Amino acid sequence: MPLPGGLGAATAFCLGKRGVKAIALIDRHDIGSQTSPRAAGMVSCVRKGELMINLIKLATQKIKMFSDETGQPLNWVHSGSLKVARRPQDAEVIASDIDRGRRMGLDVEEISPGEAHRLNPFLEPEGIHAVMRVAGDMYFDPARVAVGFARVAERLGTTLMPQTLVTRVNIAGGKVTGVDTDKGTIQASVVVDAAGAWTRQIAEASGIRVPLVPTGQQLFVTEPLEGARADLPMVRIMDAAVYVRPCDGGLLWGVYEENPRFFDMSTLDLRFDMKDMPLDANVLWRAAHEVKAQLPILLQAKVREHRGGIPTMTPDGHHIVGPAPGTQGFFFASGCNVAGLSIAPALGDAIAAWIVEGKPPMDLAPLSIARFCEKSWSEERLKSDAAWQYRHFYGAV
Ligand SMILES: Cc1cc2nc3c(=O)[nH]c(=O)nc-3n(C[C@H](O)[C@H](O)[C@H](O)COP(=O)(O)OP(=O)(O)OC[C@H]3O[C@@H](n4cnc5c(N)ncnc54)[C@H](O)[C@@H]3O)c2cc1C
Repeated sequence: MPLPGGLGAATAFCLGKRGVKAIALIDRHDIGSQTSPRAAGMVSCVRKGELMINLIKLATQKIKMFSDETGQPLNWVHSGSLKVARRPQDAEVIASDIDRGRRMGLDVEEISPGEAHRLNPFLEPEGIHAVMRVAGDMYFDPARVAVGFARVAERLGTTLMPQTLVTRVNIAGGKVTGVDTDKGTIQASVVVDAAGAWTRQIAEASGIRVPLVPTGQQLFVTEPLEGARADLPMVRIMDAAVYVRPCDGGLLWGVYEENPRFFDMSTLDLRFDMKDMPLDANVLWRAAHEVKAQLPILLQAKVREHRGGIPTMTPDGHHIVGPAPGTQGFFFASGCNVAGLSIAPALGDAIAAWIVEGKPPMDLAPLSIARFCEKSWSEERLKSDAAWQYRHFYGAV
C-alpha cells in the first residue's frame, strides 16, 4: 500500500509487475499532483558513491524503457551535461568525479571552457576553471512519471485512491496491520511511506521518527529563446549550485540556495496543496546575478513559469529507503534530497523486490533509516545539516 508521487507510484507499478494484486495507492490529493510534477526532471549519473551510481544507471535504463513499458510518453532527451567549476577547489572535485565515473564505466571527460561554450553557447567561458562533460545525463518531463506509473499499476490490479487522507499506520505486536484514512480503515500487512513532504507525519503518528526536513525548491521556465535546442547539454555551476536545461524551446533553471526555506508540514492546513506553496522569485534572481558572467541569459530571458515543490532533505544527503527496524511491514521510500524522481524507477523496483522476495536486489543498507538510530538530532542540527547538503548538492567544497 504505497502513497504515491513518483516514488510510491513506481513502487506500485513494480509490485504489480511481480504479480501482486492487492495494492492500493492512497493519496490525499490527486495522484502524482504534488512535488513530483514540479521537478526539473534532470538525471545526474555521476553521484558521490558507487551505490548511487549503480542505482542511477538502472534508473536511466528504466527511464528509456518507460514508454514501452507503460504506453505513456516521457519525452526524455539524452542531452548530456556540463558540470562547471569556477574555483580551483571545485576543479579538484571534478577530477575525482571523473576518476570515480570512469571506474564505474561512465562516459565522462574534462573539456576546456571553450569546448563547453561550443557545446552550449549559452555558457560563457569567462571565469571557468574546469568543466566535466557527462555524456549519459538526460532529462524528461517530470509531470509524466507518477501519473504514468500509476495508470499502468491500475491496469495491473492496483486500486487508485485519490483524495483519501491516511491519518495513521496501524501497528500491533510490532507488525503493520493497516492504515486509518478519512474514509475508513484499510487492512494491510505492508505499508510504504512514500508521502514526500508528509513522510514524517505518517511515520510519527505511529511513533517512528524520521530525520528529514521538507525543503522548498523552485525554478523558472523561460519563454522560447533562439538557439535553445532540446539537445543542448544541461549546465550545473557547482559553487553557486545553479542548474539549467532546455525546456520547450526555452530554458528551465533553478538553484540550491544558501538558506533554504524549511516547512513543518504539521503546522500547515490539512488541505495544503503544493500549488499553494509560497514562491520567492528573489531567490532565483539573486542566483542569476551570482552566475551572470557564465550564464548572462538567465537575467535576460523572460520568465514563462515559476513553480516549486517541497522535496525532503536528510542530514547526510542520502535517501531513506527500506524497512523501519522493529516494525514488520513498514517501509520508507523518501528522503529524496531533490533527486528522487530520476531514481524512482530503480528504487521502486528495489522496494518491490524487498517486499515480495524478502530482500533487495542489491545492498541498500547505506540508505536504511537504521543509520540514524544511534544518533539523536535536535531540529536545529537537523536543519543546519540538511541546509549544508542542499547547498552543496553539486559537491562544491
Ligand atoms: C523545483 C524542483 C526541482 C527538482 N528537480 C529534480 C530533478 O531534476 N531530478 C530529480 O530526480 N528530482 C528533482 N526534484 C525532486 C523530486 O521532485 C522529488 O524527489 C520527487 O518528486 C519526490 O517524490 P515523492 O513521491 O517522494 O513526493 P510527492 O510527489 O510529493 O508525492 C508524495 C505523495 O504523498 C501524498 N501524501 C502525503 N501525505 C499523505 C497522507 N497523509 N495520506 C495520503 N497521501 C499522502 C501526497 O499527496 C503526494 O502526492 C525536484 C523538486 C523540485 C521541487
